[in-house]
Amino acid sequence: MSDTVERHEFGAEVGRLLDLVVHALYSDREIFLRELVANAADAMDRRRFEALTDAASALPPDAKVRIVPDKAARTLTISDAGIGMSKEDLAQNLGTIARSGTRAFSQSLSESGAGQAKTGENGQDPRPSLIGQFGVGFYSAFMVADRVSVTSRRAEAEAAWTWTSDGQGSYTLERADRAEPGTDIVLHLKEDADEYLEPHRLDHVVRKWADFITVPIAVVQEGREE
Ligand code: ADP
Ligand code: MG
Repeated sequence: MSDTVERHEFGAEVGRLLDLVVHALYSDREIFLRELVANAADAMDRRRFEALTDAASALPPDAKVRIVPDKAARTLTISDAGIGMSKEDLAQNLGTIARSGTRAFSQSLSESGAGQAKTGENGQDPRPSLIGQFGVGFYSAFMVADRVSVTSRRAEAEAAWTWTSDGQGSYTLERADRAEPGTDIVLHLKEDADEYLEPHRLDHVVRKWADFITVPIAVVQEGREE
C-alpha cells in the first residue's frame, strides 16, 4: 500500500459553491442529512441495478443506510453498502461541478444574494426554496463539519480510497482499507453542531423525509447495533 497523500485543488466553481452553501444556507443546515442519506440511497439503488447483470455485486439482504454519531470523537458517520466510488470517481464527483443542476443552483443562489438575509415577495427568505429546487448535494456537509472524509470502495474494484477536505480550496486522496464495497462519509462536526451527535435529534430530522427514501435508514447509537 502506498503511503503518499495526493493533494488536489478544487475547481474555482466548487470553491464558490462551497462558500455559498456554507454561508447562505446556514439557517436551514439540517438538510445536510437529507442530502447525504439521499446519496447513500441512490448508491444502493445503483448497486442493486448493477446486480441485475452482475451477481457478484448483490447487496447484503439487510443493507441499510447507517447514521452513526460518536460523541467522544465528535463525528457523525453516514455509511452505505452502495455502488461505491473509485479514486477517479471521488476526484470527479466530489472535486468538480460536473452537474448542470449544481451549476444552475449556484447561479440562482448568487443571483438571490448570497450571504445577506433577503426577503422575497411573500416576506420569506427565498433561499431555502432554492435547495428544494436543485438540491445542494454533498457540499452541504460543510455546513455542519469543518472536515469531511469520504472512504469508498467501488463495488467490483479492489482498492479503497479516502477523500478528505476542510472545504477550503483543496482535498486529499489516499489509499484506505475497507472490507466491503460501499461508502462511509465521516463528518468532523463544527463546535456549534453538537445537536447532530444526539440520536433523538437525528431521528427527528430523518423522520421528516424518510418516507420518500426507499431504503431502510437506521440511527445507530454508539456501542450498540440498533
Ligand atoms: P447529486 O446527488 O445531485 O448527483 P451530490 O452533490 O449529492 O449530487 O453528489 C455528487 C455525486 O457524488 C453523486 O452524483 C454520486 O456520483 C457521488 N456520490 C455522493 N455520495 C455517494 C455515495 N454515498 N456513494 C456513491 N456515490 C456517491
Ligand atoms: Mg445528491
